[in-house]
Amino acid sequence: MASSIENKTLRAFKADLHIHTCLSPCGDWEMGPMGIITKSLEMDLDVIAICDHNSAENVGAVMRAGAEKGVSVLPGMEVCSKEEVHVIAIFDELSQATDMQEYIYDHLPGQNSPDLFGYQVIADENNEVRGENNRLLIGATDLGLHEIVNHIRFLGGLSFASHIDRQAFSIISQLGFVPPDIGLDGVEVSSFAKPEYDDRKFPGAAKFPFITSSDAHFIDDIGKVRTVFMLFEPTVTEIRMALKRSHGRYMEV
Ligand SMILES: [Zn+2]
Ligand SMILES: [Zn+2]
Repeated sequence: MASSIENKTLRAFKADLHIHTCLSPCGDWEMGPMGIITKSLEMDLDVIAICDHNSAENVGAVMRAGAEKGVSVLPGMEVCSKEEVHVIAIFDELSQATDMQEYIYDHLPGQNSPDLFGYQVIADENNEVRGENNRLLIGATDLGLHEIVNHIRFLGGLSFASHIDRQAFSIISQLGFVPPDIGLDGVEVSSFAKPEYDDRKFPGAAKFPFITSSDAHFIDDIGKVRTVFMLFEPTVTEIRMALKRSHGRYMEV
């Protein structure tokens, strides 16, 4: 008997896999769960990932808002390593993102100062304020980059080096190259760079698939750039196959 997946067709999923919410101190007030979903629909996105700095506390609300309106929301997080390298983690289940958050909170020192860094608002799916996070989410963890990438893999997630073209908080700006032994699933470039390997700009990145995402902190930036994945369904396993161009899955940037 054919499995259910064999009965499905491969189709294009327009994805923006790096979106912040109002929980990120640098995220705009308008970046509430329902606002993000409404804009994602307007931008014709099929799948988004919510990646706030060092926290996943708004992910569940965006997932619920997305389920209501027909946008797939993958739970994620943007972790800052002790080398001040940003890494995107993307999971299938909210529980995996919550497990990641627990691990990160144990390694994230400091308290937020809203006047200095901005408010960290926890919201529900209707954009109602539910509270505030007092941790220093904008800070660096005391975890090494390799430890973070290994833990994401251990929990079953995908990891991408964030915005490697940026002059701050990127693997290239902090280390000068992508270490050959790092277990990343790919590297991400921002809307300011071409998502392709460049020996001069991105040493060591040749063997990694390139994706591009908006890294939106403001509503109008959502979907500004996107990666298109040819998948049966938007899951971590399927996206990993597309990144490797295996089993007929592939991606376009
Ligand atoms: Zn970042
Ligand atoms: Zn970001």
